[in-house]
Amino acid sequence: MKTRESDKNMSKVPETTLVPVIFVGHGNPMNAIHNNDITMGWKKLAGKVDKPNAILCISAHWETNGAFVTSDKKPKTIHDFYGFPKELFDVEYPASGAPKYAKLTQELIQSTNVNATNQWGLDHGTWSVLVKMFPNADIPVFQFSLDKNLTPSEHFSLGQELLSLRKKGVLIIGSGNIVHNLNMLDWKEKKPYDWAIEFDNIVKSLIDSGDFKKLIQYEKLGTAAKLSIPTREHYLPVLYALALKQNNESVEYYNEVFELGSISMRSFIIS
Ligand code: ZN
Repeated sequence: MKTRESDKNMSKVPETTLVPVIFVGHGNPMNAIHNNDITMGWKKLAGKVDKPNAILCISAHWETNGAFVTSDKKPKTIHDFYGFPKELFDVEYPASGAPKYAKLTQELIQSTNVNATNQWGLDHGTWSVLVKMFPNADIPVFQFSLDKNLTPSEHFSLGQELLSLRKKGVLIIGSGNIVHNLNMLDWKEKKPYDWAIEFDNIVKSLIDSGDFKKLIQYEKLGTAAKLSIPTREHYLPVLYALALKQNNESVEYYNEVFELGSISMRSFIIS
């Protein structure tokens, strides 16, 4: 009997128990150099997971034309923002890359061609949270991009195709924000906008009821959704995390708070 090349390579990595999946609301990059309730929540999330073989991050901050996976042995820390203090630009996250797992990812995805690249690294959607979650930087990290050409439904399907990585010791983290409207940031931050609270609650309810189809078709969820998702890149990582949920798994929430009125920091772990 003929075995596919991909099956042979996959079988070289021993099976593990199903690693949990995390969605992390990352918000302001300054959290990377602060210690506050948010970063405490990230630490707690990380504490729920046995040390994985590798971490795959799907970050809001890496949108590409076509699907890409990072394959560097030593990914660089990308400071992909401006107007922040030097202290933040000085942060490095020196984790090694995970080329072996990048290759596995390329092999297991059948619906589209996944390109390997060493032209990216770790953007702040990844390192600003990992620096708090796994401060020792002793777990290899790689990223999977958001292909701009895909529909939300296609992103969800692509997420489902990543399932076998969870059985190979890979912790998959989606990093974005459920509510993310930078044009409406409220620097006085008395309280979150009503529409932000409303949409954050809608998403939680739909996650709890397992109604992922409505979350994929978020554009049909009304005004609160429109204001919460002016652009979709911070929302799509939620769909990747949910796509990996199995029927017997449950969802536990962390950081059920807002930053600057229009950013939901809600994070969750699926296990
Ligand atoms: Zn962001």
